[in-house]
Amino acid sequence: MFFLGHMAWAYIWAVAFAGKGWRRLFAPAVFVLAVLPDLDLFLWDFGVEHHTFMHSLFFWLVLFVPFLAVYRLRVIPYFVAVVQHFAFGDFLVGEVMLFWPFSFSYFGLNTVMMSVFDVGLEVGGLLLAFGIMYFNSDLRRLLSVKRNNVWMFFPFLALVASMLFFAVDLPILPLVYHIGQSRLFAGIVLGHLVLVGLLAVSAFQGLRKLGDSF
Ligand SMILES: [Zn+2]
Repeated sequence: MFFLGHMAWAYIWAVAFAGKGWRRLFAPAVFVLAVLPDLDLFLWDFGVEHHTFMHSLFFWLVLFVPFLAVYRLRVIPYFVAVVQHFAFGDFLVGEVMLFWPFSFSYFGLNTVMMSVFDVGLEVGGLLLAFGIMYFNSDLRRLLSVKRNNVWMFFPFLALVASMLFFAVDLPILPLVYHIGQSRLFAGIVLGHLVLVGLLAVSAFQGLRKLGDSF
């Protein structure tokens, strides 16, 4: 799955698990956590394979224990944001070492990226996420001149980086040249542009607020 789907579905799952606390949900953190397991792409040089321990429940549970101890239930939506990356996204589109270190087997439906299923899931997720953001007013909040929105710069950077070179399995850039050839390419590229646009405008609005305070 591309960062597009990971981020969109992280938002959906986090809101679902936040329950009444969705108003306090810090969207920039949700979007960053959504793609954090793919940091293992940078560990390739150290002999770490993609979709292994950083895509396991146990690894993230251990990392989250201190936060769970301090912030209790408020941490759950953020934990869900990171876990859905591999227990939902990469599980449906790919396969992961879900139960490392107890099992070194890969689990997942192992469907392929850029399939109708994958693109439908990613673009559908984006539409659903936008729908939720619209109705719970997150969209208005994220697009208004608020200092907190400056943090959207980090997910913006992650998404742009994934589009340029380190996208989960293939960079988005070559796909741009085929946009006219296939609806699937067009859908996935346009989806990326819409999300990157939202993150960029939000971060820019945050910067405006920061600028005002000087
Ligand atoms: Zn992944």
